[in-house]
Amino acid sequence: MGSVKDYFKGFASGLSSLVQGMQVTGKEFLTKKITEQYPDNRLDHPAADRFRAVLTLKYDAEGHHKCISCGMCQRSCPNGTITIESKMVDLPDGKKKKQLVNWLYDLGSCTFCELCVTNCPTSAIEFSNDFEQAVFTRSLLVKKLNYLPEPDLTAAAPASPAAAPNSQAAAPTETAK
Ligand code: SF4
Ligand code: SF4
Repeated sequence: MGSVKDYFKGFASGLSSLVQGMQVTGKEFLTKKITEQYPDNRLDHPAADRFRAVLTLKYDAEGHHKCISCGMCQRSCPNGTITIESKMVDLPDGKKKKQLVNWLYDLGSCTFCELCVTNCPTSAIEFSNDFEQAVFTRSLLVKKLNYLPEPDLTAAAPASPAAAPNSQAAAPTETAK
């Protein structure tokens, strides 16, 4: 059973702790408040360039990308976030070429490891720092990265009489394995 002395000792300790806590509270109470007016001030606080927010397919000024539908990114991805759909097309010179149909990316399952970017042989993809990707439906997180129309590779080159005439055939779409 504690003595009266222990009682007052504990009381003093508790009181001291309370005063210390109130000092912190009082200090914060008097400190100037800063309220971030997000999203109104989003331009004042851009994300760092290196921040990995969402995968993108790089397009140049002419609207071309460098994806060759090799499927390396899809095979490198540890959790099936990427689906590359392609088809074989006949070129005007009689050769065949694989052409991208759909570059599908599921942001909802991406772990931002960047293995896909690292392993792309043509540096066709990169991470954007655009972090505002919130949606209300998970299906909207599946994005088609090749959002511009793909060029018509089967079209004959102009003013080339030697070009092969029957070049419209296209094989069914295939998914990279
Ligand atoms: S690795 Fe690069 S070139 Fe190959 S399919 Fe992926 S994005 Fe396209
Ligand atoms: S960053 Fe990683 S998880 Fe995301 S798509 Fe690329 S390889 Fe897959």
